[in-house]
Amino acid sequence: MPDAELLARHKAVLPEWLALYYQEPIEIVRASGRHVTDSEGRTYLDFFAGILTNAIGYGIAEISDAVRGQLDTGVLHTSTLYLIRSQVELAEQIAELSGIENAKVFFTNSGTEANETALMLATQYRRSNQILALRNSYHGRAFGTVGITGNRGWSASSLSPVKVSYVHGGYRYRDAFAGLSDADYTAACVDDLRDVLRTTTSGDVAAMIVEPIQGVGGFNVPPDGLFAGFKEVLDEYGIPLISDEVQTGWGRTGEHFWGMDAHRVTPDVMTFAKGLGNGLAIGGVVARAELMDCLRANSISTFGGNPVATAGAKATLDYLLEHDLQGNAAKLGDRLIGGLRELAEPYDVVGDVRGKGLMIGIELVEPGSREPSGPAAGIVLEETRRRGLLVGKGGLHNNVIRLAPPMTLTGGETEEALRILGAAIATAQEERT
Ligand code: PLP
Repeated sequence: MPDAELLARHKAVLPEWLALYYQEPIEIVRASGRHVTDSEGRTYLDFFAGILTNAIGYGIAEISDAVRGQLDTGVLHTSTLYLIRSQVELAEQIAELSGIENAKVFFTNSGTEANETALMLATQYRRSNQILALRNSYHGRAFGTVGITGNRGWSASSLSPVKVSYVHGGYRYRDAFAGLSDADYTAACVDDLRDVLRTTTSGDVAAMIVEPIQGVGGFNVPPDGLFAGFKEVLDEYGIPLISDEVQTGWGRTGEHFWGMDAHRVTPDVMTFAKGLGNGLAIGGVVARAELMDCLRANSISTFGGNPVATAGAKATLDYLLEHDLQGNAAKLGDRLIGGLRELAEPYDVVGDVRGKGLMIGIELVEPGSREPSGPAAGIVLEETRRRGLLVGKGGLHNNVIRLAPPMTLTGGETEEALRILGAAIATAQEERT
């Protein structure tokens, strides 16, 4: 049972739209490796890594040491008005990793702020408030980013000043071009982009923003190369491409370090957050210097790039690279996707298993149809929890189970998760048939 008193106080003082997972929400009080323990003493294997935030797992000594070392100086934060060594070092590392020529980095406290900054840079640089985004996208919860969200469940306000036009290429399983081959799907989306540019914009658009794999939208994987097709069109118009790597960065997709790398495209701007701090609040933007430096007024983030967050993030990034966690994500991701496809075979409550590396979606449908099944996903969520596994849920129809464990995942934990997921899917099949 959850702590009923804490739950009541949560409901009384926090917003209704701040949804909690599970019929009986849990309070996590301890964590180690890939496991978290709740206030009742139950331990779970965390297959959502917080929300892809705990990229390398819990209780990593190198990160604790880096954070503690900074705390011990007494300087939790003064301000970004002064030089901060770990901020400069982390920026150098990210600029190098980005592959963007002559890159500069600006740190924020979240993915939302990173994308707001990217939109501000692009709109200022191009002197235009027109933005292109993908249908079913999610980029954050502030005024600009909410305004470009292409998913009704998350577009909390429709009063944003940004003018947005949506393009296909996000949710391949269900969008207008579903069922086409990779090549035909790509060609259809590129045609759609041309058509949208011609018919819904004046042409001088500020930027196109895309998630290389949609996160909140249900871990939707476009064909490799789709964004290269987009980039060609954007280049004809001089429109910068922003790759929102908040979920797909840092090697999580296995084969590549950035999600956009699968498309053999270097974007003009990348935004990042979530996994970089391994739980610490940090995000940011990396962009061509010309774009980054286009602002003519001062702009500051009071806490963005603070010494504690950047020290922890630097330790996270070093750990991730030194232990080749990208390689681990590729290897165990393949095992998970293969294992899930195999175990889902007898169950027509599973409509689709898709993903790359350790970013995997299981789309649930009403048995014998393609009808999205939110209830089936709800059953899998509760059943996995009952059996000691935490997973994510999302998608346009709230019918996609999302798996994104810490990238330090082991082979044994992979098999354990497969076993639990198999049992939970069997229950969903039985209850929905
Ligand atoms: N961009 C993407 C792709 C996201 O998935 C999210 C959050 O889920 C955001 C931006 C917003 O990040 P934050 O919640 O840190 O503001």
